Amino acid sequence: MMKYINLAIAFENMEKTSSRLKLTGILVELFKKTNLQMISKIIYLIQGKIRPNFSGVEIGIAEKLAMKSISKSTATSIRTINKLYNKIGDLGDVTHDVLIKKTQTTFFNEIVTVERVFNTFCRISNLSGAGSQNMKMKYISSLLNDSNPLEGKFIIKILLGTLRLGIADNTVMDALSLAYTNSKKNRKLLENAYNVSSDLGKVAQCIAEHGLEGLDAFKITVFSPIRPMLADRIKNVDDIFIKTKSIVAEYKLDGERAQIHLKNNQCIIFSRSLENITKYYPDVCKKIINKIKVHSAILEAEIVAINETSGEYLPFQELMHRRRKHKIENAILAYPITVNFFDILYLNGENYVNHNYTTRRRKLIKLIDEDDFVKLVRMELVKNSIEVENFLEHSINSGCEGIMLKKIESKYKAGIRGGNWLKLKPEYQNNLGDSLDLIVIGAFFGKGRRTGKYGTVLLSTYDDETDTFPTICKVGSGFTDENLDQFYQALSNKIIKKKNYRIKSKIKADVWFEPEVVIEIIASEITLSPIHRTAYDMIKKDHGLALRFPKFTGKIRLDKIPEAATTQNEIINIYNNQKKKI
Ligand code: ATP
Repeated sequence: MMKYINLAIAFENMEKTSSRLKLTGILVELFKKTNLQMISKIIYLIQGKIRPNFSGVEIGIAEKLAMKSISKSTATSIRTINKLYNKIGDLGDVTHDVLIKKTQTTFFNEIVTVERVFNTFCRISNLSGAGSQNMKMKYISSLLNDSNPLEGKFIIKILLGTLRLGIADNTVMDALSLAYTNSKKNRKLLENAYNVSSDLGKVAQCIAEHGLEGLDAFKITVFSPIRPMLADRIKNVDDIFIKTKSIVAEYKLDGERAQIHLKNNQCIIFSRSLENITKYYPDVCKKIINKIKVHSAILEAEIVAINETSGEYLPFQELMHRRRKHKIENAILAYPITVNFFDILYLNGENYVNHNYTTRRRKLIKLIDEDDFVKLVRMELVKNSIEVENFLEHSINSGCEGIMLKKIESKYKAGIRGGNWLKLKPEYQNNLGDSLDLIVIGAFFGKGRRTGKYGTVLLSTYDDETDTFPTICKVGSGFTDENLDQFYQALSNKIIKKKNYRIKSKIKADVWFEPEVVIEIIASEITLSPIHRTAYDMIKKDHGLALRFPKFTGKIRLDKIPEAATTQNEIINIYNNQKKKI
């Protein structure tokens, strides 16, 4: 049994600090106090969840219901709660305040344990249909009845999904490594286990129970997504052939990455950021279950929208319409697709990630019998830069965004962006023609047409070495009225009261956001800047790098988490290449 107050105090301390080191320290202390049965649950709760992200399980309580529950258990009127909410801006803090003022305390308070809170959250998330609202309210009020102000605050925050501690997975892994092995050095082993399971709770449980040896046994499991292998950019094709005689080139299709898990006639599809996206593609599941006869498999494909008449590939935005249509049956008809397979990670109990590209591709060819809907990504062996250029031209003429170059001997490295996969788009050969994916971390209110909305947003890159988000530019151009509305809505529930410790900015924004929304930007070049923090002090003292003439392309990268955005190192590389040209 673990008292919930221990967790609430840790949450409070984490909320107050803006230092990664201190955060790690608080987590280490917390893990040391946690018993074996509870460690995975603590991990999920820290992330404001009750299951790993990919499970799609959300507690999902509406503000109104939370207000009613607070009102019921504290004998405070909804009007008063509303007033306080308008003043303070956070229902967790409101709960804290009204619980302090609560005069009538019950005599026989049942102790609030982490187990009790967790189980109540699970029950709430399972409820649906008629009468569920009342049951939910009963559960919440019962918890709040027995809670002290701090406990109540963090119960409400988790229920509403507003617990924003800003802890990165890497920080949690550092702390687990320190707590259970007394050294940060073993983080890599934890990371390997995380890469094949995408479940930090399970990794934590394993290291707590079995130590480092347990991590070796981490296996790929169908229906647990694997963190995807990613590609580096390449600018100069000739560089590849210095070390290699031949390499495989594949079309780089402009659709949505799909990790397709199959077992016993059941199919689950995970996105690039490991969200369960099965509901958008029931047609894919149905056809694949009928077509690919396996006991179990994990396959990777790019789902692409097509013009049914010409068979031509259509751009990513076309596919994203599927998410906006209310009725999926209508969307299936309106936005036809093809599923283009490019990798196999697991088949009938056998792990394929340690096989080389050739073996994997051969297996895929045997497995996939192509038709109008199911395809193999077009592939060719290339031996020199002329062949690469020709293949690139073919791919662009077919409506692709470029090509992928893959080393023949390379294994599938889950969760890794490295030189074994390289992406080449025609724009990379110009200066900075390629787009960047940047994170919206702040905003400034607009004037004129933009009054009451965000006129300009502050963007950052991702520094994967320090796990922070340094600024790179402000952008106000490229937004249509529709974009502005969309933006205002998309960002409204990401607002945080004070700047997250992972945000590195010299500029003071009107509003700060949890770094979550990724957008696509083009710009004319990268310049040195005394204001922006990307690559700060790395190229010139007291200077960072910034974008010149940045412009929003209209694409919000719903398929990307912030850690998958353009990194600081990528910007430095582009800057260095740009300088070479001059
Ligand atoms: P980008 O921003 O260029 O779309 P990304 O940052 O989303 O790329 P990268 O790892 O850089 O991801 O590029 C690989 C992405 O390209 C994959 O996530 C996948 O969605 C897509 N893709 C298209 N065709 C292929 C292919 N043949 N092999 C692997 N990935 C492919």
